[in-house]
Amino acid sequence: MTLPVEETEVLVVGGGCAGLTVASRLALRGHGVTVVSCATPATALSTGQILLDVNDRSAEEWASFFMAQFRRQGAYYELSRTPIIGLTNLGTTAPRSISSPLFDWTAQDKNVAVVGIVGNDDFYPDLVCHELYRTHRAKAKPYWLTPSASPELDSEGFIEEVGDALMDLPESIAVLPPLPSRTPYGLLAELRKRTGRRVVEPATPLSWPGRRFQRLMENTAAMMGVRILKDRRMVALRIEKGRAVEATLSSGARAQEVRFNTLVLATGGLISGGLAVKGTEVVDPLGLFQVETAPGNGIASPSLRSALSAGLSTHHGRPITRQGEELTNVVVAGSIHCGLSHPLGQGLGAVLVHAWKAAQRAEEVL
Ligand SMILES: Cc1cc2nc3c(=O)[nH]c(=O)nc-3n(C[C@H](O)[C@H](O)[C@H](O)COP(=O)(O)OP(=O)(O)OC[C@H]3O[C@@H](n4cnc5c(N)ncnc54)[C@H](O)[C@@H]3O)c2cc1C
Repeated sequence: MTLPVEETEVLVVGGGCAGLTVASRLALRGHGVTVVSCATPATALSTGQILLDVNDRSAEEWASFFMAQFRRQGAYYELSRTPIIGLTNLGTTAPRSISSPLFDWTAQDKNVAVVGIVGNDDFYPDLVCHELYRTHRAKAKPYWLTPSASPELDSEGFIEEVGDALMDLPESIAVLPPLPSRTPYGLLAELRKRTGRRVVEPATPLSWPGRRFQRLMENTAAMMGVRILKDRRMVALRIEKGRAVEATLSSGARAQEVRFNTLVLATGGLISGGLAVKGTEVVDPLGLFQVETAPGNGIASPSLRSALSAGLSTHHGRPITRQGEELTNVVVAGSIHCGLSHPLGQGLGAVLVHAWKAAQRAEEVL
């Protein structure tokens, strides 16, 4: 089934943190923006912990705009000029620039209860305690709780049970696994209020923190007036005289053409489907653009290293077609840009700043 042709001033393909950054900034400046995205973004899989180069003015601009929007949604983040060393769900430490004042562990916190919730596989207290002792000589003590109330289905019952158990602990700081909540930090904030103890959430990938960050970004874009269409994949792009003019979006059996003035490609790297593997080569799945690799580090295998560091070749932020043509109204943003997809564990800061700048480039070609 083919739906009627749609029009938008800017089409952003990819609804991870890069696409949503570009979209929000352009919408803030009064442009009509549509975001399309087709699968879970790497952003939602990440820990949501951001390390920024605060000497870059764009990083400060990104932080001040988005932190204000996150506050409007009840998430209170702060920007620190020197990285804060936070705790991960493995008991290791990770630096971050943006953090919630509510849920921070610091290397000075030695007397810690590490509390697992049976059924929550994000977190193994014995492992965390072992690592904390090994690296910080912290006297962390493992506990397991088996609340009968589910945090998702009966949050009040869950808070009561877990809160009572936390109040019985001698330690004043309790590290808990990330918990689901309808509002940012909802259950952890409630537990903190109820117990009067510092309840700390560790940086945890593939869990609630990344999903929460993704949701905050999506809500921000929506609040700026961005139209977000999920479960649509861009499967083809029509190019005329050095300009992209129309995209074909597919969703199940439906196909739709969208015309635009400017296109932003924020489709992520290999993990998100922005790139694909064909034989031993990493390619653009549309078959339109040149792909190159950047020197990646930390991965011993050269082929894996080059695959993970692959991205679109660009000139002034614009992608180059396989015929060597530079598309004048297309801008690349985030980890689909060569060199920004690696390393996986620390991509967010560089991606966000790149996308913030890409919005400016997109505006120049509008
Ligand atoms: C498991 C994991 C843990 C990580 N942990 C951290 C961390 O702790 N700290 C950190 O800084 N970084 C971390 N990263 C890296 C970080 O998540 C990424 O650098 C960042 O999220 C990339 O953002 P993006 O917007 O460029 O891409 P994504 O967030 O991947 O968004 C791209 C979106 O585009 C969509 N898309 C692709 N092709 C199409 C198409 N043809 N049509 C429509 N949509 C399309 C994809 O489905 C996806 O939704 C982690 C990554 C992973 C995978």
